[in-house]
Amino acid sequence: MDFEAIAEHDILRQSVRQFFERELPETRIREMDRARRIPRELWKRLGELGWMGLSVPTEYGGSGADVLTAAVLCEELARRFPSLATDWLLISMTARTLREYGSAQQKAELLPRLARGDFIMAFGMSEPGGGTDVLALKTRASLGNDGWRVQGQKLYTSFADDADAILVLCRTDPVEGGRRARGLSLVLTPRQQPGVAVRRLELMGMRAACTCEVFLDDAKAPADAVVGERGRGWYHLLSTLDEERILCAAMYVGMTSAALEQAVQYAKERTAFARPIGSFQAVQHPLAEVATELEQIRLITLKAAWLQSTGRDCAGEAAMAKLAATETAVRATDKCMRVLGGFGLVEASPMERLFRDARLGPFSPISNEMVKNFVGERLGLPRSY
Ligand SMILES: Cc1cc2nc3c(=O)[nH]c(=O)nc-3n(C[C@H](O)[C@H](O)[C@H](O)COP(=O)(O)OP(=O)(O)OC[C@H]3O[C@@H](n4cnc5c(N)ncnc54)[C@H](O)[C@@H]3O)c2cc1C
Repeated sequence: MDFEAIAEHDILRQSVRQFFERELPETRIREMDRARRIPRELWKRLGELGWMGLSVPTEYGGSGADVLTAAVLCEELARRFPSLATDWLLISMTARTLREYGSAQQKAELLPRLARGDFIMAFGMSEPGGGTDVLALKTRASLGNDGWRVQGQKLYTSFADDADAILVLCRTDPVEGGRRARGLSLVLTPRQQPGVAVRRLELMGMRAACTCEVFLDDAKAPADAVVGERGRGWYHLLSTLDEERILCAAMYVGMTSAALEQAVQYAKERTAFARPIGSFQAVQHPLAEVATELEQIRLITLKAAWLQSTGRDCAGEAAMAKLAATETAVRATDKCMRVLGGFGLVEASPMERLFRDARLGPFSPISNEMVKNFVGERLGLPRSY
């Protein structure tokens, strides 16, 4: 593995930082956090900058970049605006599913629009009765003369209200041989129709990600709306998990790095007892711990991304990176917030938002308990669930 900084990655980092300075300052981010919504124009702008189509193949108007490059972008987006990174990650994963499994027509129609940021697709997997145990899902779809009809309920579907379509994981065929994973399909369901009702949830963190409940009551989707093979939807998703975990880890690397940067700056500027507070060992040590942990999670994330980008198996590393980065971000935002004293709780401080947003990591997109189950299994121990 080569640790030499890749010039394109540095350029990408600089461009994202400039974008936030010039076009999306903290005041605007806070407005979106309060409004609990990311406006559609912002996705279009990210499309113009080439960041919506990063992993979309060049023939469909994207850059065809590897996961290492996507991780750099995700980290930088999360440093300033974690909700934006959350939704960007989900959109990237739906684009990936389409890229890998979509029909020629679906790819030709939708990938260029996704890359431009003028088509956004939410991802409906979790349900009231199926979160960690996602295969317990109850949403069903049946194919009739006029296409698919989808019936059920999804929970925690990010930006569902503003999406053009929702990629719904649902049962289209009976459970085969007692295996719940079989018979599930990914049905691309148009959002704007009478059969789809959406209720926004009021969450503590990741507010602008606009996470919703979705009610599917005879929702219609065209007969060719299945992405990939009918009945194989779950297996298609499994193949995207490593990338999702790597990007998720990168996101929390970005948040940890933002918290540290802010706390160090504050420790240099704020004085107490006629000295900068950063001169007290009690303030320095937690920051040194966060800096050390940041280096650890950056390295494991980088390694997982490098393995994936070079076509090697990275399932263990991707899972560990997700686990380590999300737990670190929770600890880091806590430690860094204490350095800010009362200011850490003031809304104007990005730390307050970082602290709230970091709380999502330990259980989404997969809970860290399940990640540990998976890592335990890879150690040769019996499956624990
Ligand atoms: C802001 C936000 C955005 C989200 N966006 C999306 C989205 O766009 N699309 C989507 O499909 N989902 C989304 N989710 C859902 C998210 O992926 C789920 O919250 C997550 O999978 C956990 O499911 P749950 O919340 O139902 O927890 P549960 O499954 O109820 O788990 C509760 C607790 O039990 C533990 N647990 C359960 N089973 C086991 C076991 N076998 N061993 C050990 N521990 C176990 C879990 O680790 C957890 O601690 C989002 C959630 C949030 C909060």
